[in-house]
Amino acid sequence: MIPPTTKLYWQDPYRTSFTARVLQRLEEDGRPGVILNRTCFYPTGGGQPHDTGVLAGVPVVDVTSDEAGHIIHWLASPLPDDLDEADGEIDWARRFDFMQQHSGQHLLSAAFQDRLYRPTIGFHLSEDSVTIDLPGPPPDDEAAARVLDDVQSAIAEARPITARLYSLEEAIRLPLRKPPAVDGKVRVVEIQGLDWSACGGTHLRNTAEIGHLVITRMERRGDQTRVHFLAGGRAHRDHLQRIRITRELTACLSTGLEDLPAAIDRMQEQMKQSQRAVRQARELLTRAEAQRLIAEAPHTGGVDIVYHILEPNKLWDMESLLKTLISFPSVVAVLGAAGEGRPRWMAGRSQNVPLDMLDNLAELKETLAGVQGGGTRDFIQGVAPDYDTLLKALHLLQAFAFDLPDLITQD
Ligand SMILES: [Zn+2]
Repeated sequence: MIPPTTKLYWQDPYRTSFTARVLQRLEEDGRPGVILNRTCFYPTGGGQPHDTGVLAGVPVVDVTSDEAGHIIHWLASPLPDDLDEADGEIDWARRFDFMQQHSGQHLLSAAFQDRLYRPTIGFHLSEDSVTIDLPGPPPDDEAAARVLDDVQSAIAEARPITARLYSLEEAIRLPLRKPPAVDGKVRVVEIQGLDWSACGGTHLRNTAEIGHLVITRMERRGDQTRVHFLAGGRAHRDHLQRIRITRELTACLSTGLEDLPAAIDRMQEQMKQSQRAVRQARELLTRAEAQRLIAEAPHTGGVDIVYHILEPNKLWDMESLLKTLISFPSVVAVLGAAGEGRPRWMAGRSQNVPLDMLDNLAELKETLAGVQGGGTRDFIQGVAPDYDTLLKALHLLQAFAFDLPDLITQD
């Protein structure tokens, strides 16, 4: 039987390097692992992710624990066979970040409990997010601000954070946030005078090392609230990023920080007005273009036959131009465009022109291979395989209109 691993990270969470005896080597799914007699490497557990680092120069990629109290170091490659002792060093920046977030979580949970009577029912910590879950809907901004004031006061007071093992009988006499989930000895982490929590994680020496704590978002999830927060270095980097972004925004909008939301509201309202004006101007321009094309179109059998190939422009599109053209009486319009993709065509007629565009479509498809399209009796549209076929299709559609029996009476 291999004895349980001595947890150096409990004895001194600030210790970063150590030497240990190699007790057992193992392998799981092709991944080499090793159990030592003692370690600074924290295994994933209690909401806190595992440490990384190196063991005898080999990267430690994962750390787990088993029920017998062994810490298993999972390695990028096996240790040399003849190695009885190994030097280990943890990634201190990663660990210290987790200690800041985790200690911040204890403090924030205590403040939510004491100020708003909301117990923490979930905790999640990863490399890029840290959250706690509370029962009920999100507290309002004012209540959340009071909670953060309490947290900031406790940070300024530099309250010592200590961890101690208690027997179960001793532990249940402490004002624990929730009953201990383990049998035997209970490890209780205390923020002096403020909080007692059963916890196996790594924590700071005192609350001052949390530095700063901010809530970034409160998210309603069913009948619970997920509070996203940042502590220590994460809060600092977030603060710098927000300052940079708001500085750019206030410079861009020539306004002060306080007036930023109102300035953005005004800008959005102006944008809506501009969009309305552009839409109206487009309609007017499309109508003017339609009238110009009708005026220039050949007039036969009482019908103006418009034939036009659109230049690419942003002022009107083919469909709105065609619909505007056939909103005038006695018009047949044939339009084409060759932009990106396959060349497109459209043809339509006014309500008073007795031409069945579906008949034209059928004949068009029969005559020209590769032309596709669909539509109604007064409006058809489609594509041609290439520009030459497009021109043939447009001429054919125009010819159909010239064949129109003289049915429109000019009165
Ligand atoms: Zn903890």
